[in-house]
Order: sequence, then C-alpha cells, then structure tokens
Amino acid sequence: MSIDIQSLKNKFPIISNIARGEQIFWKNPDYLNKYSLPFTLDDVVDAEQRLSRFAPYIEEVFPETHNNQGKIESPVLQLEQFKETCFPHLKGQLLLKGDHALPISGSIKARGGIYEVLKFAEETAIKETAFTEDSDYRLLATDSYKELFSKYRIAVGSTGNLGLSIGIMSAQLGFKVTVHMSQDAKEWKKDLLKSKGVEVVEHVQDYGYAVKEGRKVALNDPYCHFVDDEASKDLFLGYSVSALRLKEQLKAINIQVDQNHPLFIYLPCGVGGGPGGVAFGLKLIFGDHVHPVFIEPTEAPCMTLGMITKLHDVISVQDIGLSGKTIADGLAVSRPSKLVGNIMTSLLFGSCTVEDNQLYRYLKALKDTENIFIEPSATSGFQGLTYIHDLNYDTPNATHIVWSTGGNMVPEKEQSIYYQQATDIEKKEL
Ligand SMILES: *Cc1c(COP(=O)(O)O)cnc(C)c1O
Repeated sequence: MSIDIQSLKNKFPIISNIARGEQIFWKNPDYLNKYSLPFTLDDVVDAEQRLSRFAPYIEEVFPETHNNQGKIESPVLQLEQFKETCFPHLKGQLLLKGDHALPISGSIKARGGIYEVLKFAEETAIKETAFTEDSDYRLLATDSYKELFSKYRIAVGSTGNLGLSIGIMSAQLGFKVTVHMSQDAKEWKKDLLKSKGVEVVEHVQDYGYAVKEGRKVALNDPYCHFVDDEASKDLFLGYSVSALRLKEQLKAINIQVDQNHPLFIYLPCGVGGGPGGVAFGLKLIFGDHVHPVFIEPTEAPCMTLGMITKLHDVISVQDIGLSGKTIADGLAVSRPSKLVGNIMTSLLFGSCTVEDNQLYRYLKALKDTENIFIEPSATSGFQGLTYIHDLNYDTPNATHIVWSTGGNMVPEKEQSIYYQQATDIEKKEL
C-alpha cells in the first residue's frame, strides 16, 4: 500500500515536525473516549494467578527472587535529589518504578517475556503429563520435565532485551530456544545468551525483519512456539500484571490516586507491548485518574506516528524519512505492534519524542544524584516530565512515575562507556 505522506502532513501538521526529527509532545485527541477493549480485569488477574502458581518454582531456580517469594517484582524508588537537580519546578511527587532492577533479566521484558514462556510450559506440562494447576510447580525443575520441554523450541525476534528474557527463562526450563537478533543488538547480550546454550541467529537487518524471519522459521515447526512481539496477547497480559502490583506498592507508601490526585505514568515505548500492557492494567484499576504517556526516540516514533494517523502498523517511520536508528536499545522499532495501537486509542494521554543526547544527560544525572544506573532507553520517560509541567497538567497533588525499563544486566564495562559518552556530551555543550 502506498501512503500519501503529503496529505497526512496537511491533515496532521505535527507529522512535519516529527519528520524533521524534532522533539514533540502529542496530546491524543481520542483520550478517554468510550471504546471497547479486548481484555478485562479477569484476564489480568488470571495472568497474576498463573505467576503465583509458578512462584515456588521461580524461587527455587532463581534464588535472587527468594526475598520476594518467587515474585518477579521491582521496587518503587524516591528521586528527591534527582528531582531537585533536574526538575526543580515540578510540583508533584516524582517516583521511579525500578524495572531496571527486575530479577532474572533486568528489564521490563522480565514481565511479559517470562510470563509467556511460563504459560507455554504450563500448557505443555498439562497437555502431556498428569500435571495440573494444583501440582507442585517445583516439579517442573526436575529432569523428567526438562526432558519433556527439550522436545520443544521457543523462538523470538528481538533487539536484545526480549531475547534475554525469553532465552534465560526458556533455557532454564529445558526448552530449545532460538533468538533472532536485529543488527543493533549488543555483543554482550548475544554472548550471554550463547553461554546459556541459546541459539542466536544474527540478522543484518532491523528489528521488524528479525521478528518476521523468526515467525517464518517457527511456522514450519509444529514443536516451535513463537513469541510474537508484534501481536502477542500473552506478552501484553504479562506486562499488565504490574498494575496490580503497583496498586499495592502505592497503597503501602500512602499515595492516593483519585479525582484530586492524578497519577501520570511515563513509559518508554518500542513496539508498544510493554508500555501498552502496563498502561492498560493501570487504566483498569485507576480509570480516568491515571494518565499514561509514551516516550519514543525522535528517529523511531512508530507508535506516535501510527496513532496520529490511525494507520498503526501500516505506516513505518521510514515512510516519513526517519532512520529508525537510536542508541536506545529496545526502542529502535519502525512499526508498532498490530495489537497495541488500537487498544491505546482511548487510553493514551499523549506521547512525546526525545533525542538520543538527552537520554545520555538523564543517564548521567540519575547516576550522579541517586547512584542509580539505568540504560539509555530506560531514561526516556523523564522527557515526559518537561511537557507535563510546561503544559500545566502538573499539580502539587500529582504523582509522576517514570518507568525505568532496563539496566541491571548491562555489564559494568558497558555502563562506564555510557557514562563516559554522557560526560563527553556534557563537555561539548559547555
Ligand atoms: C523493550 C523495551 C522497551 C519497550 O517495550 P516495547 O514492548 O517494545 O514497547 C522499553 N525499554 C526497554 C529497556 C526495553 O527493552
């Protein structure tokens, strides 16, 4: 299908700004319209219960989850120093949802990705053995189940972090696993996966291609489960469980969310499954009082472009002349998920874009003020604070939660390279 870009620019002038690579904020005109949604709270609760059934297994095979009884969850962190330094005018409270510290794979992908693998393992065990939902899930760590799972393969296409999460979890259960990596995937991620016996297929093309190739290879193999990042319902629901958990965490620190206490959530967006799932879950719980904002790189604003034009995955960022390239791992995505754009039509408050250099600034500031390292893509949420404040959506009663989507798996050597690059950028500006 050929797309008439000029008429889109005439209809939506902001597309001209986006096409020039400018940092923009887009307020979604369809926000809060009535719209039917494909999933319900029951679906989210079902996913949460599945994770609870697996908790004893997770606790056994990943001892780092012991303190949380096998629950894969991250802390909510205060950012007082950072706020004072970087956003002194922000009126509301600033918190960081620390998914960079999620156990097992150190990124938001430890939610959706691991959930989908566990669900497939459960279905397989129930189908092929006497296993039931009431069984002791620690049985799944025994050799006989590992042998069963080794008949199956799990495959995924990824820029890196989803591959890590699917690869680590699948290998632990005993599945054969193939990760199709796009050209931007980091060497250390490939090396780490290979060290766990994961088959890594390196493509010289981008993320969309890696997914397509993975899907194609998997289609011909009845024993292969393909984790489809562009369309998976299970990934989406796995991410959405975070909302139930966050609700409890906010209650524990006495943060109210209601008519007079709005909650703004800032989510870095790639293909959209992660941020979409989180936002969807939070909307089910907090309704009109929670306001999700997506943040994308200026060179890869696929979700924003898809939502403005309502063309979703039919339009790509290359169609308007952008490269799709960014240092932000996980966000170098040219087309949004087929599933998520539609769901977000009435749920997304707005979205904004951010330049790579700005990500480095946030990375360094967070390290300097709070001694927290997060990867560049994970810092993008902070960009949303600028607009919310300037556009007067910020109030003293507001809570702002920036979702930190990754970081803990980044080797120390790579962390210091990022930090050095940030320092160089800062120097150039002085
Ligand atoms: C994958 C990823 C995202 C975005 O998730 P999508 O589901 O691709 O939108 C954000 N940050 C990091 C660090 C990621 O790895």
